[in-house]
Order: sequence, then structure tokens, then C-alpha cells
Amino acid sequence: MTRLICPFCGPRHLREFEFHKTVAAEGGSAFARVYERVDSAELSIEHWQHVGGCRGWLLVRRNPSTGAVTDCQLVGGGEPA
Ligand SMILES: [Zn+2]
Repeated sequence: MTRLICPFCGPRHLREFEFHKTVAAEGGSAFARVYERVDSAELSIEHWQHVGGCRGWLLVRRNPSTGAVTDCQLVGGGEPA
């Protein structure tokens, strides 16, 4: 993974982004979203911030084993204005 596609800025180098945390998949209980560890070899859902660009918060889905990014969208699922 050397690039992320920011919904505002387009494809940008990974060095412009800062990892924040791994988050639980949607649909679990409130307890699971807050307290359970998220540790899967096939899917990691993460919050990243585009600190070298628009400073937007992104929800990135990727395979931590291969580094392949399957989805990158704004936190909350909104579209860029
Ligand atoms: Zn951006």
C-alpha cells in the first residue's frame, strides 16, 4: 500500500496520511464496537487522516496481509461537497 485515494484529493502518496486507529466492523453491538479488539488477517477497517492534504478523516478497508486497499471513503459515508 503506497497510495490512498482520498475522496477529496484523489490518489495521493501514503506519506500524506496518518493512521489513527483500527475500528470494529459495522453491525456489532455497542460493547463490541468499543471494547473488543479488531484483529483479522483478511480485513482491517481503519481511521486515517489526510494530514498532508484536506485533513479529512477517512475510513479505509484493507487486507493487512497483502496491504491491498479495498475501499476508502469519508468517515460517516458522506460525499465530498
Ligand atoms: Zn484529502
